[in-house]
Amino acid sequence: MQYTEIMVRYGELSTKGKNRRNFIDRLGFNVRQALHDFPALVIKAHRDRMHIQLNGEDATPVMARLSQVFGIQNFSPSIRVERDVEKVKEVAAQMLAEKYHEGLTFKINTRRSDHNFQYDTNELNDMLGGHILKNVSGIKVKMKAPDITLRVEVRVNGIYLSYETFDGAGGLPVGTAGKAVLMLSGGIDSPVAGYLAMKRGVDIEMVHFFSPPYTSEQALNKAKELTAKLTPYVGKIQFIAVPFTEIQETIKEKVPSGYLMTLQRRFMLRLSELIARKRNGLAIFNGEALGQVASQTLESMAAINDVTTMPVLRPVVSMDKNEIIKIAQDIDTFDLSIQPFEDCCTVFAPPAPKTKPKIDKARYYEERLDVNGLIERALAGIEVSEIKIGDEFMHGKQEAFADLL
Ligand code: ATP
Ligand code: MG
Repeated sequence: MQYTEIMVRYGELSTKGKNRRNFIDRLGFNVRQALHDFPALVIKAHRDRMHIQLNGEDATPVMARLSQVFGIQNFSPSIRVERDVEKVKEVAAQMLAEKYHEGLTFKINTRRSDHNFQYDTNELNDMLGGHILKNVSGIKVKMKAPDITLRVEVRVNGIYLSYETFDGAGGLPVGTAGKAVLMLSGGIDSPVAGYLAMKRGVDIEMVHFFSPPYTSEQALNKAKELTAKLTPYVGKIQFIAVPFTEIQETIKEKVPSGYLMTLQRRFMLRLSELIARKRNGLAIFNGEALGQVASQTLESMAAINDVTTMPVLRPVVSMDKNEIIKIAQDIDTFDLSIQPFEDCCTVFAPPAPKTKPKIDKARYYEERLDVNGLIERALAGIEVSEIKIGDEFMHGKQEAFADLL
């Protein structure tokens, strides 16, 4: 049967008191963004529910998009029928006849938001149930745990029938928790960190450091493609590419190799903070997980974090690699992340990075460098682009690459 609308139930935002209106408005905005290429839809975000009128559009691709929007608890594709009991009976029987298989059980669950309707909920349950029993042969009523619960909602503008409810993505509407930057590499962890940040309502902008000619155009494109994978949750994401070559070359030339990595990270963090501040970001997210590699010991985090007072948030800090990979697979970033285009850190990775760098030493080595000049020049070379749902950057080279394996 052709669904006429999707009824959307809000998630956690229902507990937010007077901020509720902001949350609903933002969710409405995000849903419109996510569905922008379905112009026939009419989206109405009311206080208790959101209604997406399909106007002839197929419900399936719309629901696929919807399932990625944070702030939605669940949704049901529904059929709107005129407020005429005979019509409702007919459609209800048709819906169940389509689902019928041997032994199928059902019940009717009617609700009225319009209490002036001529029948009450018990009368409607009886009438519709009786009609279905008569017209769908073999079907049985079961009040406790039936196979199908047909929900009937009587509203002023029509009667809505649905029997399926799908889980939404949960979380909070992106944008309701403020803005931040995400340090996005081409690896497995940072896209997952970005996903988790967005899930809690944070509007993120990507900061990616690249080092031409040591890193290829493909490495940059991979980071953009990873960003594109995260756009369905928000519609679009700003991608900020920061040239990092001069900084890495200078550090390599002037600093003992044990501190290369610590100093590179300190520069990354400084730059991320400056970019965040300029763009009204309140925090920096990254994909660090405790103990994963040399740069991710507590000593190392302390020596790196020394350069900023802005909150540095690490959504995957306590996860095992397998747990992170599981999420990466769920959000479809894993296969892309494991493609081996070297990013700037791999290229300049020292053979034996210190796992317990000292803050004092990091500061001491940095005195040999023109920190401000290096930062200024990197900032001057920033390129910002907007990445939208469906954008592609790898241009089929993934397959070309697969052939080489
Ligand atoms: P990832 O899988 O996210 O690359 P990782 O385990 O490989 O993480 P590192 O390479 O040590 O860890 O990087 C730690 C974090 O530093 C990353 O999660 C990311 O947030 C940030 N980072 C590393 N390289 C870059 C880069 N080129 N551009 C932006 N951020 C980076
Ligand atoms: Mg990495």
